[in-house]
Amino acid sequence: MRPFLCTFRPFAKYFCSAKSNPMTTSMTSIDKAAEMIGLEEKYGAHNYHPLPVVLDRGEGVFVWDVNGKKYYDFLSAYSAVNQGHCHPKITKALIDQAQQLALTSRAFYNSALGPYEKFICEFFGYDKILPMNTGAEGVETAIKLCRKWAYEKKGIPDHQAKIVVCEQNFHGRTTTIVSFSSDPDSYGHFGPYADGFVRIPYNDLNALKNALEDKNIAGFLFEPIQGEAGVVVPDDGYIKQAYELCRAKQVLFIADEIQTGIARTGKMLAVDHEGVHPDLLILGKALSGGVYPVSAVLADDEIMLCIKPGQHGSTYGGNPLAARVGVAALEVVRDEKLAENAQRLGEIFRSEMQKIIAKSDLVQLVRGKGLLNAIVINDTPESSTAWNICVALSHNGLLAKPTHGNIIRFAPPLVMTEDQLMDCVAIIDKTLSEFKK
Ligand code: PLP
Repeated sequence: MRPFLCTFRPFAKYFCSAKSNPMTTSMTSIDKAAEMIGLEEKYGAHNYHPLPVVLDRGEGVFVWDVNGKKYYDFLSAYSAVNQGHCHPKITKALIDQAQQLALTSRAFYNSALGPYEKFICEFFGYDKILPMNTGAEGVETAIKLCRKWAYEKKGIPDHQAKIVVCEQNFHGRTTTIVSFSSDPDSYGHFGPYADGFVRIPYNDLNALKNALEDKNIAGFLFEPIQGEAGVVVPDDGYIKQAYELCRAKQVLFIADEIQTGIARTGKMLAVDHEGVHPDLLILGKALSGGVYPVSAVLADDEIMLCIKPGQHGSTYGGNPLAARVGVAALEVVRDEKLAENAQRLGEIFRSEMQKIIAKSDLVQLVRGKGLLNAIVINDTPESSTAWNICVALSHNGLLAKPTHGNIIRFAPPLVMTEDQLMDCVAIIDKTLSEFKK
């Protein structure tokens, strides 16, 4: 198997030379990891570029690879595992419900959906929820609701409704969503593109004000912090003032909290930092604690009831498994006070990173809120420095991933303790101090 695997880029160098791979323990374990990577490379589409680590098990803030090596997870599956890997309460809900009833479709009522809908609506303060599965489906649902409302309530002429979005947005991978992306990797050669979106710079209230002069604007879709763009945090007051501008023009304020929500930024929702209640709230990822795809759009009746039976749905959306998991995942966040923990540890983390920045010219800056943070590496976005730092971090027992070239996102599970966080800070410090470009 090995000679064959060595032809695969870019992993060969980590697995084909014991000298270049400090993780190496035995030939058998190399073979196991290499075999798994080889299978993904040969039989899976090449639409991801993973770090050369093959994970096999997870618990809390830790994951283990096939060689038994233990790592701190500092990505949390892009903030889907806020509650920690295999949280016992969430996995119990999943297993119990799987043994009782997993899927009915929405052709019938089921005994888990209603209680979940009541729970989540009261939790976030909305009249209704529309349950879906992936984040992108949540965003698509919000776009459809916004357009329906625009035609049926606001009185925009048919086919004329537009939604304002931001530069560097990331809302998912469907053809409509990539149509309004400014990232060539996301939209390139996937046209023809969907109409009806107006892109403005992020964190620019004047641009929003000007865009809202168009009477056919139905909604403003935005991320309270741009996660995929590299954890770009807008100025204090931006969200509140953007909300007021939308209010004044009867434009729906649509918050994509798929990555920032469910306690990640130190509040239950990132918009809570500015006391704003979006007209449409999109949740995903950690709404399941990482065990199952669960997403949701929340809104009040005036918007939600614009969609009638048969006009939107999904075979799996709102299934009993998702419903039970959704309740358990939110209860864990509430009962274990994960927002408070994220807030407190986030402040410690950024101040520790500042100390590293003061003594190293490798890192330009740290930014973020709660436990959604990033460091910007002093190199061009085209360089492989951030990637190589992430590989070195993995050798030292911490998993993180570059986003947009020279930016490394740090987003550990929110169940982390202060001692564990300080352990991670020490790993980052050691790795950066030893790192040679
Ligand atoms: N919206 C935001 C802000 C995201 O960060 C993501 C995923 O990273 C999505 C939407 C898409 O979610 P999914 O990958 O579950 O479709």
